Amino acid sequence: MSKPTVGIFGLTGCAGDQLVILNCEDRLMDIVALLDVRDFLMASSENDTACQLDIALVEGAVTTRRDAARLLAIRQRSKALVALGTCAVWGGVAALDRGQDRARLLDEVYGEGHPDYDSIPAQALHEVVPVDLNITGCPIEKEEFVAAIAALLNGDVPLAVEYAVCTECRMRENNCLLTERGELCCGPLTVAGCGARCPELRIACVGCRGPVDDANSASLVKVFEARGFAPQDIAARLRTFAPQGVTS
Ligand code: SF4
Ligand code: SF4
Repeated sequence: MSKPTVGIFGLTGCAGDQLVILNCEDRLMDIVALLDVRDFLMASSENDTACQLDIALVEGAVTTRRDAARLLAIRQRSKALVALGTCAVWGGVAALDRGQDRARLLDEVYGEGHPDYDSIPAQALHEVVPVDLNITGCPIEKEEFVAAIAALLNGDVPLAVEYAVCTECRMRENNCLLTERGELCCGPLTVAGCGARCPELRIACVGCRGPVDDANSASLVKVFEARGFAPQDIAARLRTFAPQGVTS
């Protein structure tokens, strides 16, 4: 059986998800042996930039017209497109300014009279092209990525995590930062998969993996308000990583 052809791409983002793939260490050789990676600029300067792909893995948000054109071209050459990381799945931190006056923001950053920069409101991949699979995380979790690739190679749909960070946190028997220390912890709204990494270190979850399916942000906002947090601080915390996924 021939190996599936794969391309790995980055739009606007920190390239952290591509780094996670390269940091798969002991699994990397197995992954490379099972996949025919044709186009991966971060790993190789020799790429086939036109071939048809069975799987395209794309990280980063769409924040420019160039990003959008690249993503459309990737979609056209790929049978399956996987959004990799919170920016690709939700828009991520790049989408924090959604809904604000973009011309004013550009003036603020670059000064009035700046050149006509290629800059559009940040979008998640699914807002521009159809996406077949989401692997969230800022960055993605190595084990989750390897499991998803294994499932795809078997022709299976990778298992989606459908519970919140709080579940993992309580399974690790942590004291609750929200109820016991009154901190602004987004664990109840955030999709699990990181092993409650931050609360495990006594740091409140900032929601970097994006919202869980049945996220009840209205309820959590009431809990935060009852603990004396200002509405703008609550809104800022909830909007940091997935502004279209939660409302406050
Ligand atoms: S510390 Fe945060 S993640 Fe852990 S149970 Fe409390 S609210 Fe949930
Ligand atoms: S605990 Fe929250 S902020 Fe920390 S890695 Fe997990 S999802 Fe991200």
